[in-house]
Amino acid sequence: MAPVTKECDYLVIGGGSGGLASARRASGYYGAKTIVVESKRLGGTCVNVGCVPKKVTFFAAAIAETLREAKAYGFSVKETAPFDWPTFKKKRDAYVKRLNGIYERNLVNDKVEHIHGRAHLLDKNTAQVVLDDGSTTDIRAKKILLAVGGHPIIPKDVPGAEYGIDSDGFFDIEKQPKKVALVGAGYIAIEFAGMFNALGTETHLFIRHDKFLRSFDPMIQETITAEYERLGVRLHKNSSQTKIEKDEKTGKLTVHYEDSNGKGTLEDVDELIWAIGRSPEVEDLGLDKAGIKQNGRGQVVVDEYQNTNVENIYSLGDVTGKVELTPVAIAAGRKLSDRLFGPPKFSNSKLDYNLIPSVVFAHPEIGSIGLSEPEAIEKYGKENLKIYNTSFTAMYYSMMEQEEKGPTRYKLICQGPDEKVVGLHILGLGSGEMLQGFGVAIKMGATKADFDNCVAIHPTSAEELVTLK
Ligand code: FAD
Ligand code: NDP
Repeated sequence: MAPVTKECDYLVIGGGSGGLASARRASGYYGAKTIVVESKRLGGTCVNVGCVPKKVTFFAAAIAETLREAKAYGFSVKETAPFDWPTFKKKRDAYVKRLNGIYERNLVNDKVEHIHGRAHLLDKNTAQVVLDDGSTTDIRAKKILLAVGGHPIIPKDVPGAEYGIDSDGFFDIEKQPKKVALVGAGYIAIEFAGMFNALGTETHLFIRHDKFLRSFDPMIQETITAEYERLGVRLHKNSSQTKIEKDEKTGKLTVHYEDSNGKGTLEDVDELIWAIGRSPEVEDLGLDKAGIKQNGRGQVVVDEYQNTNVENIYSLGDVTGKVELTPVAIAAGRKLSDRLFGPPKFSNSKLDYNLIPSVVFAHPEIGSIGLSEPEAIEKYGKENLKIYNTSFTAMYYSMMEQEEKGPTRYKLICQGPDEKVVGLHILGLGSGEMLQGFGVAIKMGATKADFDNCVAIHPTSAEELVTLK
């Protein structure tokens, strides 16, 4: 069958966070004839194998923790209330499916054409889509957005690594593992390890150094690493894996490793999860056909306006490797469409990548915005900074025994004579919800005096941030 040729103003390759946001803005607000091509499920990583099902699992883990803590408040709750993983998973899958439907309807409402298939570039203005039935459609577009995201990495140099799964596979686990091994030290490894541990799975975490979340402020690294050990996560520090074996009869894995204590084996592992970072999804995208520049990690190189080196081809989100967060991809996508298709007042529209808040849904949650202390020292010099720290026990723990109490630690990094806040790092219950409001203030240029001038809300943990000495 001869290929069908379509034409449009804006072709968006990738129906994830950034692609959908940009497509809907272009068509829904500005009437650009827009087509989105998505090869998997609408919504991308965040909706299907990321933020959304992760956060729902985090809520389940938080309930498990609350059930254990309820006794301290006088409730006679069975401490080991059974968790029905298969039922939970079924409900979680159904929720994600509902969201897929909502995303589909949103596209219809905004008059964006959605094509299900895999796209690759043929040249600077044309992409070919391989449809589900194997036929192809060629699309000529005035402008093209590459918003193809990324995929998890599995190591190539560890024999048997393929017996493990990645973060996508985590969401397919049908029954709760009794024993799990995670490798990695970033957001995903730490979030998954915390959830498994809270839900009662024996959790082993293999890290290459002696702390994790090493891109965060040292206070965060130290406190969360110690807290995970206190909570019972088995940490294998300074470790590497030499071989993974699978017992074909039982399906159980053995992890051969080396760590600070020498060589070791971890047997009877139900699931091994690699969480060692992500790669851009560009392998079959035909970037070379259009002459698009990539960096050493294969990520698409863009300027501050999301322009690639090729005129009328743009890129954003995880594939550009800037800040791999959903709201960043969404904001960049909307700003780009404002600039490309909006009124002249948006001709300079672009996302400001400074002071982006982020939260790690660890146990407890971690929130961070701006510079870490070492980054601030490097940028401004130690003598131009004032650092405020506080460490306390949240009131929630007042009814509990000493050994049941989790940490709360906050750090405020201020710069210059007017003590402008250039970094805020918080760890403790509720930090995830707390950070957004402080983020607004810091983005507006708040100083320490502005923080102090806001009357505290009592009794909360957040009030400690406006009464720092
Ligand atoms: P994606 O959302 O990945 O979308 C890209 C889409 O392009 C995919 O649907 C893919 O199928 C499609 N595609 C790729 N190639 C082609 C092609 N050739 N043709 C057609 N379609 C194609 N971020 C947060 O802010 N908060 C969180 O709590 C959070 N949790 C996360 C948890 C996990 C486990 C993971 C993995 C990520 C998490 N993230 C979180 C990160 C967030 O999911 C990503 O930053 C975000 O999804 C990036 O959006 P994107 O549009 O760049 O890419
Ligand atoms: P990250 O890049 O955040 O972390 C991966 C870490 O794993 C590395 O920093 C490294 O830490 C460690 N690592 C790398 N290679 C190896 C190895 N061979 N063996 C052991 N450890 C290794 O990637 P993630 O996959 O965790 O997450 C990807 C991105 O998705 C995040 O950066 C984040 O932007 C986003 N995300 C956001 C979330 C949120 O907002 N809550 C949640 C989940 C993901 P080290 O150098 O210390 O060894």
